Amino acid sequence: MEKISDRLNKMPVSATLAMAQKSRDLQAQGVDVINLSIGEPDFDTPQHIKDAAKKAIDDNFTHYPPVPGYDSLRKAIVEKFKRENNLEFKTEQIVVSTGAKHSIINVFLAILNPGDEVIVPAPYWVSYPAMVGLAEAEPVYVKCTIDSDFKMTAAQLEAAITPKTRALIFSSPSNPTGNLYSREELKSLAKVIEKHPNIIVVSDEIYEHINFVGKHESIAQFPEIKDRVVVVNGVSKGYAMTGWRIGFIGAPAWIAKAVTKLQGQFTSGACTIAQKASEAALNAGVEEVHKMTAIFKKRKDAVLEFMKDIPGLKTNIPEGAFYVFPEVSYFFGKKYEDTIINTSNDLALYLLDKAHVATVAGDAFGSPECLRLSYATSEELMLEALKRIKKALSELK
Ligand code: PMP
Ligand code: GLU
Repeated sequence: MEKISDRLNKMPVSATLAMAQKSRDLQAQGVDVINLSIGEPDFDTPQHIKDAAKKAIDDNFTHYPPVPGYDSLRKAIVEKFKRENNLEFKTEQIVVSTGAKHSIINVFLAILNPGDEVIVPAPYWVSYPAMVGLAEAEPVYVKCTIDSDFKMTAAQLEAAITPKTRALIFSSPSNPTGNLYSREELKSLAKVIEKHPNIIVVSDEIYEHINFVGKHESIAQFPEIKDRVVVVNGVSKGYAMTGWRIGFIGAPAWIAKAVTKLQGQFTSGACTIAQKASEAALNAGVEEVHKMTAIFKKRKDAVLEFMKDIPGLKTNIPEGAFYVFPEVSYFFGKKYEDTIINTSNDLALYLLDKAHVATVAGDAFGSPECLRLSYATSEELMLEALKRIKKALSELK
């Protein structure tokens, strides 16, 4: 009998990856689709990183690596945390995994029991609830709206905590809204966490470097809670290395040890060549990264400028990452011929069909009134996509 497990049955497919696949399929059929669905830098990996990978092959870094990663890479990560974030970690607190996605599920499987609750401020990144579910725990959503720049307040956090709360997960800079928590906002959340010693904070900082307004702030900086914060980061976004699949955590030693145990049965250490490339990326510092961020910022400004001219789109001002997340409920109830738009999913499908632009509906991020557009594509293509979107939206009556 063909029967998949209940655990997997309950899990939704990744909406971002599904939409990206849909647009690849259409492209393969010759349709001129502009893909604003997936969040990945359109830049190629910088040359010095590719050279380090080639050297790793020639130097025979081709055997099983240690499960938590090469010591040299873990040391480079310790240095990175110190230099860029002023955070102190020991090497044994670092675990390297196959992408930040893998790092997050590792942490959840290591700390959650069935029935535990995990606070997930919405909008959230698609995969958090799916991963909480896979660990047989329950996501508890905290609805944040455009009026608070989609950020959770300390009062909202406090109200969501129950005796079953085991973790909080959020990303800053945020996917999908591009917002950033300031030091003061993080401090007020940390004050709440401090009162609840059972709670682990999983701080997803994968967009750290794509910050348009200033210094990155981590919730791990507050000594009151530092021993309960897992910082998740990686090379995918900042270094244009999505395909290399390297993520890492800086975590309390007991969590790093548990994750290593888990990884030892599941995947072993991450790809050796990608590890050596990541070491070169981190050790070379952030000069290349800043060049890419400056381009993202320019695109963000161009996108926001263009969007002002599209009636019905209401958006916050993203301060980081490479997404805009406009509210699109203005279009609900409108139609084009026989197509009625009732949800952001209907709208995303309409835009794909009519304008040949792939976006992701807000449902997947816990905000069904919104639509996510990734501007990690050239300014020219992005503006062409927005022109098409504007025209298609104007045809909805
Ligand atoms: N966290 C967030 C918020 C993301 O957007 C992504 C990108 N998919 C990840 C984690 C995972 O990144 P990766 O697995 O490529 O390191
Ligand atoms: N983080 C990206 C996104 O949200 C990549 C896709 C994914 O890993 O889900 O689009």
